[in-house]
Amino acid sequence: MSATPSRPAPAQPIPQPAAQPTPQRRPVPALIALSNATRARRPAGVRRQITVDHFVSCGAARALLEPLGLAHELAAGDLEPLRALADETRAITDALVAGRRPPAATALNRLAEQARATQTLQVAPDGSLTADIRWHADTALAELACRIVTELGRLDPARLRYCAREACDLLFYDTTRSRNQRWHSESPCGLRERQDRWRRMTGAAEDTASTAEKPVTV
Ligand SMILES: [Zn+2]
Repeated sequence: MSATPSRPAPAQPIPQPAAQPTPQRRPVPALIALSNATRARRPAGVRRQITVDHFVSCGAARALLEPLGLAHELAAGDLEPLRALADETRAITDALVAGRRPPAATALNRLAEQARATQTLQVAPDGSLTADIRWHADTALAELACRIVTELGRLDPARLRYCAREACDLLFYDTTRSRNQRWHSESPCGLRERQDRWRRMTGAAEDTASTAEKPVTV
């Protein structure tokens, strides 16, 4: 009985990771949240613009940052530095949208410098090597600033825009491939804009119909 010579296994295709959006198309949630923190907004169901003071209490500030899922919780002494960070972030983004040179990022950099990075070597199943850099921060403010710096470092300023709805001046980052996003959000701005357009169209149609029926008296 002879041993069957072992043959090399047929080559298997190496699974390819799902295509990731380019760095420029990835969202910049921390930057947008801070930049919009001091802007007036019109939530759904509210007729007039309102300005919420997110820095009046820890609870209000935590509600602002909650969607970002920070690892650390904001402390009571963080409110004023957070307000300064929001003001500076807004000034930087406003300059980017206007095509101006952004102001110095003094508050942002002071906080971001408190974060530190570690680097490890990662070996993938196919044997390829990558250097994995991770950032660590001991406070919510340092973590937030570190994220904003990362987002600013990779964004495409042309994708940073104000909402096209006249009654809204919130900033958004267009992550669409076609770069044609117009509203900061579908609800309420996209929805309201379509409703207004429909009213204008149907109103114009009714005006035309009523003009045709009755003679115009001046
Ligand atoms: Zn809007």
